[in-house]
Amino acid sequence: MVETRENYIDGEWVATETGETLDVTNPADPSEVIAQYQRSTAADASTAVEAAADAQSEWAATPGPERGRILRATGALLEERKSELTDLLIAEEGKARPEAAGEVQRAIDIFYYFATKAADLGGTVKGASAPSTNLYVRTEPVGVAALITPWNYPIAIPAWKLAPALAAGNSVVLKPASQAPGVVIEIAAALDEAGLPDGVLNVVTGPGSEVGTEFIENDGTDLVSFTGSSQVGQLVYDQATDAGKRVQTELGGKNPTVVSASADPAEAADIVASGGFGTTGQSCTACSRAIVHEDVYDDFVAELVEQAETIDIGPGDDHEMGPQVSDDELDSTLEYIDVAQSEGATLATGGGVPEGLDDGYFVEPTVFTDVEPDMRIAQEEVFGPVVAVLQVEDFEEGLDVANGVEYGLSASIVTDDHTEANRFVEEAEAGVVKVNEKTTGLELHVPFGGFKRSSSETWREQGDAGLDFYTIEKTVYDN
Ligand code: NAP
Repeated sequence: MVETRENYIDGEWVATETGETLDVTNPADPSEVIAQYQRSTAADASTAVEAAADAQSEWAATPGPERGRILRATGALLEERKSELTDLLIAEEGKARPEAAGEVQRAIDIFYYFATKAADLGGTVKGASAPSTNLYVRTEPVGVAALITPWNYPIAIPAWKLAPALAAGNSVVLKPASQAPGVVIEIAAALDEAGLPDGVLNVVTGPGSEVGTEFIENDGTDLVSFTGSSQVGQLVYDQATDAGKRVQTELGGKNPTVVSASADPAEAADIVASGGFGTTGQSCTACSRAIVHEDVYDDFVAELVEQAETIDIGPGDDHEMGPQVSDDELDSTLEYIDVAQSEGATLATGGGVPEGLDDGYFVEPTVFTDVEPDMRIAQEEVFGPVVAVLQVEDFEEGLDVANGVEYGLSASIVTDDHTEANRFVEEAEAGVVKVNEKTTGLELHVPFGGFKRSSSETWREQGDAGLDFYTIEKTVYDN
């Protein structure tokens, strides 16, 4: 019997009035329906915004340590349920078990991290020029936060928006991605159990174009935080700024790893393979371009191909690399593989559906060589396990190629040359820059965001900077 999950609005579990639901299936075996969720409408979204607006001032007036206590209790509940959450994430999104477990742990850690921050928020006392004046800066919440999140990190990304929003005293309406909403429903259940007052968090599932648009355009929301594709993100950014709202968009990437002449080809291939094929390439920071010095090019390609060919593919439950999340994502990857070949790139390995796995949305780890910087495979986000290898003559050309795309999320270099490493750190156009590390992965206490088309740039997520978006400062002179 497939379970039907309801929206969480004003502290109650409620169904949409239309009675319509949407099925979420297992990407490793799409004949298996994991759960049904509400196919909500703009009217449901509007009800959620109303509940959030009603609850906001009381939540803002709740002392920070008390808000922190609820976040900490939520972290503890999620920790108790870690194994079930990991199973659900694998079933709906398809991630390999260690990656799914790591993501759930990240969400738990985020709740603990911002629980501590909640107690610390409030403001700072400043020196005043008149001795009788108390001069201080109050840190206040912005109001009602609308959060719209993607499927590729279905629990970590909602957590890294939700926890700081609540810590700072905002109320929230949240629309999770339609492919994998289950883990967000579980976060709502944990917050409810931990004592979050009614209306402070409202979760509504359903199509982004209806529920998301209502969240953005409804006068009751004050700020919009969106993570997803650049196409939708641009639309969201325009709608939110037209509506006069504070907006943050975290979008796609075309992340390079530059392999210098001094690099060990095997070590570089290891770094590129884990950055490019980890999470089935479905990470905004996935390495999708290896930009390799001609001196080590052949050795590097041989090592990378070997790595790609030894990856154990299958259902994420007990294999190293799981499926893509949906038939649309799989089709899009296969289309890019065709386009790359028609543009003249050489398929070095992969490129197809692995034998015996054509029931699920599986694709082989794929490596293209002889890629030129202006080819689509070198410019556009694929969002599948596909690495384009480009050959360059020297460091300067490598840096130019690395920066020669419209995205700027993460970039790495593999080198033994300290001067090159320093120049790369200074000149790479990316929000995250790494030396001798893969492009993916980031601690939760440092800021995350991109340059250029990868992000709206003004705001960062995670770390202390992650709170800035959800707070506004008021300067007070009290004589
Ligand atoms: P997406 O298709 O843009 O969807 C993201 C969210 O937006 C989903 O909840 C979606 O709802 C909703 N949405 C769709 N159309 C909308 C509209 N017209 N108005 C408002 N909301 C709308 O992205 P995705 O496929 O889920 O995620 C993959 C993308 O996210 C990749 O490009 C990846 O690089 C990017 N990403 C970026 C970061 C980062 O931090 N920079 C992190 C992770 C992922 P439905 O699910 O109902 O369509």
